[in-house]
Amino acid sequence: AQGVIETDAIIVGAGPCGLFQVFELGLLEIKCHIIDSLAYPGGQCIELYPDKPIYDIPAVPMCTGKELTDNLLKQIEPFGATFHLGQEVTRVEKQEDGRFFVETSKGTQFLTKTVFIAGGVGSFQPRMLKVEGLDAFNDKQVFYRVKNPAQFAGKNLVIVGGGDSALDWSLNFAQEGPNKAESVILIHRRDGFRAAPASVAKMKELCDEYEMQFIVGQITGIDTSADGQTLTGVKVTGGDGVTRVVPMDMLLVFFGLSPKLGPIADWGLALERKQIVVDTEKFQTNVPGIFAVGDVNTYPGKKKLILSGFHEAALAAFGAVPYIFPEKKVHLQYTTTSPKLHKVLGVE
Ligand code: FAD
Repeated sequence: AQGVIETDAIIVGAGPCGLFQVFELGLLEIKCHIIDSLAYPGGQCIELYPDKPIYDIPAVPMCTGKELTDNLLKQIEPFGATFHLGQEVTRVEKQEDGRFFVETSKGTQFLTKTVFIAGGVGSFQPRMLKVEGLDAFNDKQVFYRVKNPAQFAGKNLVIVGGGDSALDWSLNFAQEGPNKAESVILIHRRDGFRAAPASVAKMKELCDEYEMQFIVGQITGIDTSADGQTLTGVKVTGGDGVTRVVPMDMLLVFFGLSPKLGPIADWGLALERKQIVVDTEKFQTNVPGIFAVGDVNTYPGKKKLILSGFHEAALAAFGAVPYIFPEKKVHLQYTTTSPKLHKVLGVE
């Protein structure tokens, strides 16, 4: 196992503000590690609106959520930040030596001089299917994401949801291929989908060919083996109000992702309506050495805009310098003209 990683700065959240925090720290020669619970950077821009145009990024008349993210990633390339994706930061604890111990859900551990929380509206977690007794089968027979498709091959699958993930995985498991299931039943609460029309058409075609089934209804209960150890079926209440038992080996639920502030609430930070209170000089929290930027923070006049987060990241980086280089006097320099900044940017 990897030992504890020592660093100057940890950024919690790789949304647009976390990414730009890398840039602002980089200009001040502060190296950092950046962590996100999603498997990819971009935060809300990628998770919620990758193809929608944004019109209020200064000097960029129009770019999509994905383009903004790609450009930020390009802009921070010179600083070589280490990304730790697909893991949630669960612990942040101040140590006796003044540093912070940070740990993720995957067990990655850090000792850092400063922490920058750019957690936005929280870490994106799968929306759960709320049915009594179901949670006991999580990760055994009930899954909210597909990590290893081979696990589902040859099984009787029930898939719930009406978006792209539900449709894409239904098609994947119902059709010929290495992961073909024994049977696939898609369940959605209505006969209308949020998924790509082509996938919906393909699903209907497969149903007509008896390669899979589609049922309109909601899961309202479960059936288990006599000893209660195995989930054997789900109770589905249809539009007609009748409840039927649908037998299955494995249940896949795709209700989309919803953000949850989650563990950030437990780190001893002053909060106001689930947002972290910061000053507007350094965007520091009530815990010296922990800063918060972007949608996650609050202060008088706060507006949840990307451009505000960029400004906050710049001032927070300057605010962190005394913790990392106590001796250093930092002067503002322009990227246009400063030979020193050209050197750190690698554009000499
Ligand atoms: P986020 O983008 O929310 O990113 C936070 C990241 O932190 C997430 O990836 C999350 O997974 C991660 N995270 C949280 N907690 C943890 C944890 N404990 N461990 C690990 N990772 C964690 N703004 C504009 O300025 N202009 C617009 O035109 C605009 N259009 C929008 C359109 C839509 C549909 C939406 C939903 C928002 C729009 N916004 C717009 C708002 C903008 O997207 C947000 O202000 C911006 O994304 C905030 O960036 P952020 O980096 O603070 O947080």
